[in-house]
Amino acid sequence: MNVWDRAHECMSREELEQLQLERLQATLNRVYRNVSFYKKAFDAIGFVPEDLNDLSGLSRLPFTTRKDLADAYPYEMFAVPLREVVRVHASSGTPENPSVVGYTANDLKHWSELVARMLSAAGVTKDDVIQVAFAYGLLTGAFGLHYGAERIGASVIPSSVGNTQRQIRILKDYRTTTLVCTPGYAMRIAQVLEEMEIDPKTLTLRRGLFGGEPWGDEVRGIIEAKLYIEAYDNYGLSEVMGPGVAAECEKRDGMHVYEDHFIPEIIDPETGQAVPEGSVGELVLTTITKEAFPVIRFRTGDLTSMNNQRCACGRTVSRIGRISGRCDEIIIIKGVNVYPKSIGSILTAVTGTEPAYQLVADAVNHQDALEVRIEVSERFFFDKMERQRILVERLQKKIRDTVGLTAHVVLVEKGSINRVDETSPMVVDRRKRSTA
Ligand SMILES: [Zn+2]
Repeated sequence: MNVWDRAHECMSREELEQLQLERLQATLNRVYRNVSFYKKAFDAIGFVPEDLNDLSGLSRLPFTTRKDLADAYPYEMFAVPLREVVRVHASSGTPENPSVVGYTANDLKHWSELVARMLSAAGVTKDDVIQVAFAYGLLTGAFGLHYGAERIGASVIPSSVGNTQRQIRILKDYRTTTLVCTPGYAMRIAQVLEEMEIDPKTLTLRRGLFGGEPWGDEVRGIIEAKLYIEAYDNYGLSEVMGPGVAAECEKRDGMHVYEDHFIPEIIDPETGQAVPEGSVGELVLTTITKEAFPVIRFRTGDLTSMNNQRCACGRTVSRIGRISGRCDEIIIIKGVNVYPKSIGSILTAVTGTEPAYQLVADAVNHQDALEVRIEVSERFFFDKMERQRILVERLQKKIRDTVGLTAHVVLVEKGSINRVDETSPMVVDRRKRSTA
């Protein structure tokens, strides 16, 4: 068993909570003194950081939303002067502004340590060769994984994204053992591998760590079979740090949250109140070690549940379930809640793979209408109209049976829904635009 930081990952609950409380108090003091957003928010409810004497007091504090971060664009949420910031990243944020985040040298040290934990939990050691096929740029995925892997002492190949044939050549020739990318891109690599008629068993690839977008066990099964590897899920987001917030261990039964750095809560997205352990709700995270960019009760928008049971791996930190969707992406069509993810599962069930897809809500003659756009690939017999028509009908029937809605399924050109660079939103709601 591979526990990178036994002292912290296997702490007694009592010790952990004492450490969390001290770190939370320090963080609240820091943001109250240095970030005007938090000063105002705390003053508005008459809270001073010295008032917090136990962890339950956290639930009294206001939430931080993506909109708050966008309004603070670019640097207003920073809790240290820019001269102490050694790295800046940004995520897509809101349509108005990206969320710009910063790191001190200490923050980067912690980040590498946490990613090292996550890689170790998947069995990575310094003997491994890691291919990082995330975009090297403003997003946090690539650099987060890169420095964590170096921290372990593994050999890192920063292959970045795109040019899938070249990625496969690197996999093969450089004897990659560990692939890091989004699950969607792993599916793409698997597909191109098939097209190139390369048997995955001839590769040295043993495992993959996939994150950056929600995926389910169906997709995991397909990736594992097609790439002949073990696939691990992990969770992170730029606003909180990047990858390394939570990750699966070898038991692959939920993702351990690194609670000595982040305090997780699960709330009802409607009421903002805590939900019971095991119930699905929105994940809320508070950072308790970040210096440059601490966030208090940040609403991630991601839906999951909490599991406080002790894991068989020996780690004592709690686990969250796999992300089952985003609460801000639910679209309501004719009064029916539609999670994009559930449409994804239907596509996987019917086609055997999860193609790139997009949901478009529109108002047609004042009636809600849902269009599901699916990228065609060779698998969908692009030249055979009759078989395409049968596929579309099967999908429409399955969506009607499962979701309870009649959707209009449209096959679109390959490459027209850009998932790799995250430029195509999962959901486009045209009704909002027409009423604005
Ligand atoms: Zn475990």
